[in-house]
Amino acid sequence: TKRKGGKGLRFFDRAMNTASVERLALEADLRHALVRNELRLFYQPLVRATDGAVVGAEALVRWQHPQQGLLTPDRFIPLADETGLITEVGSQVLFEACRQGKAWQDAGHAAFRVSVNVSAVQFGQPRLLETVSEALNASGFPPACLTLEITESSLMSDVESAAGMLRALKNMGVQVAVDDFGTGYSSLSYLKRLPIDVIKIDKSFVRDVSHDEEDAAIVRAIIVLARSLHLATVAEGVETREQEVMLRDERCDSFQGFRYGRPVPPESFPFLLQGVAD
Ligand code: C2E
Ligand code: CA
Ligand code: CA
Ligand code: CA
Repeated sequence: TKRKGGKGLRFFDRAMNTASVERLALEADLRHALVRNELRLFYQPLVRATDGAVVGAEALVRWQHPQQGLLTPDRFIPLADETGLITEVGSQVLFEACRQGKAWQDAGHAAFRVSVNVSAVQFGQPRLLETVSEALNASGFPPACLTLEITESSLMSDVESAAGMLRALKNMGVQVAVDDFGTGYSSLSYLKRLPIDVIKIDKSFVRDVSHDEEDAAIVRAIIVLARSLHLATVAEGVETREQEVMLRDERCDSFQGFRYGRPVPPESFPFLLQGVAD
């Protein structure tokens, strides 16, 4: 049995080794990707609850990998965070999202909003402020139309420095949204201490909201809490009419989800803008 265990361990070692070799290869590829401009932004519509108008979009990064095809962020954002490459990834994403947002505004959608995701590592870097300000200046995109999405857990990891970063971002005039709200298992007291504008209700609560009384109760409570703190609410992962009806009845402000559109490349987005309110 001892030999068998040894064999198992050796096999495990080899599997680990393969994983780390693959990881190193992907890291090298990602370095190249940043130079060769292989990152792409897809856009998912943000819809106003009252009239269904598309009022903006969330930018979601993809990597057009030369061999592996289009990679979703779960394949490379954690790696970018661990290797520090996230600084460059985040900068490219911010510049491109602001440029695209400005182009849509110039095409006639004057108040069009763009949301950009900021990872925990990025949020911890003081230089984020310069990057945001440079992306806004280079594009001419109005700060008030940019929302930075920061997960509840990144806000909670160091509330004091989070507060400083958020105040600086607010001074620049950008909006801040708490992403994946409800998944951070945190105390709610930070909501009144941090300058936040928007709560994004995590899709795990939205999924069963039309038939699970407990999820419905949680979503209702989040919306009521947000309203009393003067925060706007966005429900993510809205896929069905039943979910939409419930969320609108509870006076959620905006929706995002496959019901209104999957994330698409910018050239496919304009058709989603038909009937957009300015
Ligand atoms: P997230 O910010 O929570 O983004 C929402 C994710 O849910 C997206 O996955 C989106 O495609 C997906 N989604 C949208 N509507 C629906 C729906 O109706 N049903 C379901 N089941 N899913 C829906 P995606 O694009 O794979 O992004 C995954 C995560 O990667 C994002 O989660 C975000 O945390 C991160 N991410 C994406 N882009 C960036 C970026 O530019 N920078 C950083 N740091 N992170 C990013
Ligand atoms: Ca997000
Ligand atoms: Ca989210
Ligand atoms: Ca998420």
